[in-house]
Amino acid sequence: MPEPMLISCSRCGFETSSRRIWGNFNYLMPNNTSLSIFRTSGWCRSCANIEPVEQFPDRQKTKAEIAALEKARLPSDAPKSPKWFRWFLFSKRRAAKLRREQAYLNREILEKQMILRFLDLRTDSPCCLSCGSEDISIVDIPSVQAGEVVEIPFAHPDCGGMFTVRRAGVRLTMSFPLRTYTLNGKSVP
Ligand SMILES: [Zn+2]
Ligand SMILES: [Zn+2]
Repeated sequence: MPEPMLISCSRCGFETSSRRIWGNFNYLMPNNTSLSIFRTSGWCRSCANIEPVEQFPDRQKTKAEIAALEKARLPSDAPKSPKWFRWFLFSKRRAAKLRREQAYLNREILEKQMILRFLDLRTDSPCCLSCGSEDISIVDIPSVQAGEVVEIPFAHPDCGGMFTVRRAGVRLTMSFPLRTYTLNGKSVP
């Protein structure tokens, strides 16, 4: 059960919760499959609150990850001698393990290829997943210790007070409805 963080302004009475960014967010891909949305917390000027905002994965990093996964997909101890190969064929347990590993790697590769496809198709800048506004600034919310109050380098817009983060002190059990978005980050009703 996760524990949300409370974000408060040191000057006015504004207070919000990191719970706002929790959820199950997915893009609807062209082939009717879905892709998990990479997101973080940010200040949305339009919502005037901390909201879930998009943060796109890096294309070069994703390509490098695919290359590494493809390399891992080839068994490093591929059969070299006919004797080894016979043993390999008759080792059912090993074959099953290898199949599971390959299936896992294939799924990971497919997911990362979908990310590249998403990056190719996306035209708009990252936006707020609550209202669609692009007027956003990323605000990292640290995970703080119980009893700790940590100031973060972000001033409350139009107020100037600094934001501090502390634990809410309660753990919440929540289930999240699936929220679906277009490739340009707009909510699909
Ligand atoms: Zn304030
Ligand atoms: Zn917003």
